[in-house]
Amino acid sequence: MPIRRLAPAVVNQIAAGEVVERPASVVKEVLENAFDAGATRVDIEIAGGGRDLIRIADDGAGIPVDELTLAVEAHATSKIVSAADLEGVLTMGFRGEALASIASVSRFSLESRTQADDAAWRIEVIDGVVGAPAPIAGPPGTRVEVRNLFSSVPARRRFLKSETAESARIAEVVRLLALARPTIGFRLVSNGRCLLDLPATDDPRRRIVGVLGEELDGHLIEVREEIGSPADGTLTSVWGLVGLPETARPTAKNQRFILNGRAIVDRSLSHALKEGFRGLVEPGRHPVGVCYLEMNPARVDVNVHPAKTEVRFREPRPLHGLVRRAVQEALQRADLVRDLSLEVKVDPTVGEPTATEQSGAAARVDSAGLIPGPGGDFPSAPFSNAASPFTGASLAGRPRSAPGVDLARLREAVADVPLPATSSNPAETPGVEVLPTLVGSDAVLQVHQSFLVTQDAEGLVIIDQHALHERVMFEKLHDRYAAGPLESQRQLVPIVFDADPASIAALESLAPLLERLGIDATAAGPRGVAIHGFPTLLITRRVDPGPFLSELLERAAQGEIDRDDHEAALADVLDVMSCKAAVKAGDRLGEREIAELLAMRDRIDREGSCPHGRPTHLRIPIAELERRFGRSPG
Ligand code: ADP
Ligand code: MG
Repeated sequence: MPIRRLAPAVVNQIAAGEVVERPASVVKEVLENAFDAGATRVDIEIAGGGRDLIRIADDGAGIPVDELTLAVEAHATSKIVSAADLEGVLTMGFRGEALASIASVSRFSLESRTQADDAAWRIEVIDGVVGAPAPIAGPPGTRVEVRNLFSSVPARRRFLKSETAESARIAEVVRLLALARPTIGFRLVSNGRCLLDLPATDDPRRRIVGVLGEELDGHLIEVREEIGSPADGTLTSVWGLVGLPETARPTAKNQRFILNGRAIVDRSLSHALKEGFRGLVEPGRHPVGVCYLEMNPARVDVNVHPAKTEVRFREPRPLHGLVRRAVQEALQRADLVRDLSLEVKVDPTVGEPTATEQSGAAARVDSAGLIPGPGGDFPSAPFSNAASPFTGASLAGRPRSAPGVDLARLREAVADVPLPATSSNPAETPGVEVLPTLVGSDAVLQVHQSFLVTQDAEGLVIIDQHALHERVMFEKLHDRYAAGPLESQRQLVPIVFDADPASIAALESLAPLLERLGIDATAAGPRGVAIHGFPTLLITRRVDPGPFLSELLERAAQGEIDRDDHEAALADVLDVMSCKAAVKAGDRLGEREIAELLAMRDRIDREGSCPHGRPTHLRIPIAELERRFGRSPG
């Protein structure tokens, strides 16, 4: 084939692949145009997840009629003139390709009226052909209408997810942009249902709470810090609100960075935020925070990627330090430092149970009922946690059921071991706290309420109690599931919790699977979920239904749970269930629980790792110990 120039319509369609990935990208581009036009409110209406319709109206400056046609032409923009203007660009747009790209993959119309004009003008783009402007009645501002998105590009349409998933992404984009512009009012309506209504405000705090959730009100602290100087143009400041440690989430989705009014994604900044919380938030959780950064626009390049969510800082290092310090100092002012060292050294799960952590906290309160007894079912908390500290009295009076526990030898062992303080508060025993017990003829110690130390034929074995129990729970749940639906306990009064549209979309796609697992839940209004039934097995393990399902759905909405492949989704959900139901690091275990856990070891030994791939146990061979102690050569 000879070389030929592509027709402009084809060029636009190719370019659209970069800018317009899905309906949510259309919404982002059109809203950013409204920002650039100085709008004070925007109304977004979508249908069919944005595939059928996206209509966005703003009250901004409008487009003069003689520029309407140019507005939908590629590489035509009112925002820059020369490459030099790119240096220090403050508008959201500047590439002049968004409207052309969108118009090339949809049935498109653009309607606008400047403040000076007394009528609006409208153009349509159909199959890449731009029609002539026609007058139409309408208020000052701009209305963009996008119908049948990607209907002419089946390859792209195939990549779209379900209607609910695409609506959820749109809502996510709108929320993010609403955080970037508190002074603009936002309204999002999907299929006639209002999903978001955020009035304009001069107080960013109100907007942040409006977007992230009212339940955060009262749990946010202010961060504020600056570096550099205005004299040489290096002044850089950060202001924001971060959630107290107990508000940390299982995902990082409530971490937002707004740079000079632009929502950006930057790994270094996320890392800085996390660093600021070091020691206050468990490794698997993510602090909540919205940070507004202001800096000389000449010191950052926003023209790195068509979507402009990634930027390149001329000097990233000081920025990282700025955010980290701002967060650390805010937390210090909030007087959390003492808790910090205490929690880090002893047990990161100690602390006030919070709404988001109740499931973990509840499981911690009582670590009994660890492994199914001989009858195959979970014993209902035969040993209370308070009885676990090693006292002769509690031992003597305790029933024995675990096979292989030799009580007589256990008592002997006890006599030889100095008793730790009888305390239910691990913070008071910061040293090595050991719980000696025996399984068969092997002594077992529980160290730091996290690890079990014992021996086997080859040497010393160290077991991660949580990882091992998690593995056991996973196997058990998997077997139960294979045998038929899990037994579910009906709630007399449904448990209702707040959920965002993305979580509700996740619920809709996971519902059949969840039902088989004994979780009966439905959407309750646009922003809520109601739980009608919950697995008996999880209730026995004191897992709190609300926080559990809320976290599960949030993970699913974040793509951490594969919703498209049934087997994968099952494994992912069972993962979360077993993790929540398992004993935690820091749980004191009685000797029976330890015995039962170890009895499962042989079966687990084959795998040697928890469902997350972490090892459940480590072994130090005797030969290695001998070598280390210089007992044998080599
Ligand atoms: P860019 O934003 O990069 O300039 P776009 O394709 O998004 O490119 O828009 C092209 C031009 O159309 C803009 O430069 C602007 O002049 C005009 N425009 C687009 N949307 C609006 C709007 N909502 N209000 C006013 N002008 C607009
Ligand atoms: Mg634009």
